[in-house]
Order: sequence, then structure tokens, then C-alpha cells
Amino acid sequence: MGVLCGGPLRGAWDRACDRCFRLFPCLSDPARRSALSLKLALVMLHLVFAGVVFVLDNDLIQKTRQEPWYTVSYVILFVATLVQYFVTSGTSPGFVLEAQKAIDERDALERRTLLASKQPASSKNGSVFITVDRTNYQRGNASAWTKLVMDLYPPGSSPRNLTCTYCNVIQPPRAKHCHDCDKCVLQFDHHCVWLGTCIGQGNHCRFWWYICEETALCIWTSILYITYLKSNISRAWWADVIIILLLVALLISLIFLLLLLLFHSYLIMTNQTTYELVRRRRIVYLRAIPERVYPFSKGICRNLYLFCCAAQSSSKYRMEALPSAEELEEKTRPYKCSDVLSCRCCC
Ligand SMILES: [Zn+2]
Ligand SMILES: [Zn+2]
Repeated sequence: MGVLCGGPLRGAWDRACDRCFRLFPCLSDPARRSALSLKLALVMLHLVFAGVVFVLDNDLIQKTRQEPWYTVSYVILFVATLVQYFVTSGTSPGFVLEAQKAIDERDALERRTLLASKQPASSKNGSVFITVDRTNYQRGNASAWTKLVMDLYPPGSSPRNLTCTYCNVIQPPRAKHCHDCDKCVLQFDHHCVWLGTCIGQGNHCRFWWYICEETALCIWTSILYITYLKSNISRAWWADVIIILLLVALLISLIFLLLLLLFHSYLIMTNQTTYELVRRRRIVYLRAIPERVYPFSKGICRNLYLFCCAAQSSSKYRMEALPSAEELEEKTRPYKCSDVLSCRCCC
């Protein structure tokens, strides 16, 4: 009986799915489908938490009529948080292969320009010149990236030890292969399941703003809940239970968000990533560096400037060299009174 009922039902479901996939081809990919479900769940979660108080709290509806700016400000923050979520999850974290491609294209353009300027002089044996130059150009493509990256490591480093076995690309310092994205990411921080993407050089700043907005929204929503519970209006007991349960969930989320915000603010000020902090002993070039010494830090002000403004600057991909022995020695030097006066930690 079950088979008899299941057959036509399953057939109808499959036909509906096929029609849906034809209308929206992007949904045929399971990974994209799960990413879309995650985003839909997030929007629903936000709508439930924010909407329930507006449905149950008559005082708030009254207040909205009298002082619409209060609710309008809340709605603006609500929309901005969701927009920031979607923008962050849609922004590339800065994949190493993309950076390599960009370097290759720039190198190819330079070589093409050079070739065009030399063309008239070599018109007699043009075909030979182009063939030879093409070979050199291809070799040059590989060496442009290799040279650029190897210059960031101390002399004597072997490219073989720095090549990702999955992407077959030489990783610059601070890059790491993400097994979820199956790509190497520049300045890898972590893979965020909530956003469904890696957090790296390209979207770390947006990620920080997203946590910041989410924290503010969480605080404001908690205030709305507490105001509702403290009001003297008569209401059903189940409404109180719903609000208390949601408030507990909100407060737990708020503690987590505040800790995350503080943690990432500390990372930004010291120019570190979560991966570097957590796996310091496993990263070859960080192993020998003493604790509390931040090898990539350029002072709090410069770190903040690079974090906030470098993503918007002309150089899309920023790769940092490993500090030299002298620079490390300077960083490990203990602090003196004169250092405090000269703001050594800031600049
Ligand atoms: Zn890789
Ligand atoms: Zn990832």
C-alpha cells in the first residue's frame, strides 16, 4: 500500500523538482541548494525574533504610531544587518588562484606591450621570434607568481615545501587551503558555516561589520523583549513563556556575539588571524617566534588602516612578507617608559 502510494507521490515530487530546476537552474546543484536553505533559515530566524515582539506587544505598536522614528531606526538596523550578511557571504575571501590569475594577466599584458613595441624590429624572422617569445612568456607567467611569492619568504626557502598539494599553487605567507571551499585563501581566518564561506583577506572587514551590526540588533531586540516583560499590560501566560524563551536564546547569542566581536577586534589590532592564533605551533614560519610577538603587526593605527582601507585600495590582493630577523628582534625588544611615551604599540 505504502509502495502504491509512494510511487505516484514520488513521481509527482520528482516532476515538481524537475520543473523547479528548469525554472531556476542554480537550484540543481546540491551545494547551492543547501547554501540557499541556510540563508532562508537565517532570514526566517531574524523575522521570528524581531516579528514576535511586534505581534505581541500592543504598547510597541502604539509607540510606533506616536514615535515612528524609533521603529524606523530598528527596521533600518534589521535590514542593514541582513544586507551585510548577504554581501559578506557573497564576497570572495581572496582566493590564491584568483590572485595568481590576476598577477599572470598583469604580467601577460606587460609582456604583450613589450612584444608590440619590439615587433617592427623583428619583422624579418617574426614567426621564430613569436614562438620563442611565447615560450618565454609562458615560463615568465609561472615565474612571475613564483618570484613574487618567494620574495616574501626568507632566502633559501624551497617552493616545493610551500606548494599546496590540492591547488598546485605556491602559497604566500598567511594563506591556507580550506577543505570546505577546496581552495587556498589569502590571509585565511576561518571557514564560517553561518555565512557558508571562508573568511579571509577579501571579506574579513565586512565580517567584522556584520558581527557588529548583529550584536547591535541583538541588544536592541533584547531591550524590546525586556520592556515588554516589564510592562503592566494584561497578556496571556503563553505569550510570556514565548518571550522568555526567545529572550534566553537572544542573551546566549548576545554573549557569543560580544565575545566574537572582542576577539576579532583584538585580532585586527594585532594583525593576526584566528588560524594563526590557534595553530601558531603548527605554522612553520611562526613556530620559532616567541608568544606575544605579532610578526605581521605594524602598530595598532597602521593595522587598523590596512584592515579598513586596504581592501578598497588599488591593490586588490595584499601579500605580506615574513619579517626579517632584525624586524623580529625589534618586535621582541621589551617595552620601556620611553616606548610608552613614543606610542611604540600604536605606530
Ligand atoms: Zn590549496
Ligand atoms: Zn572555506
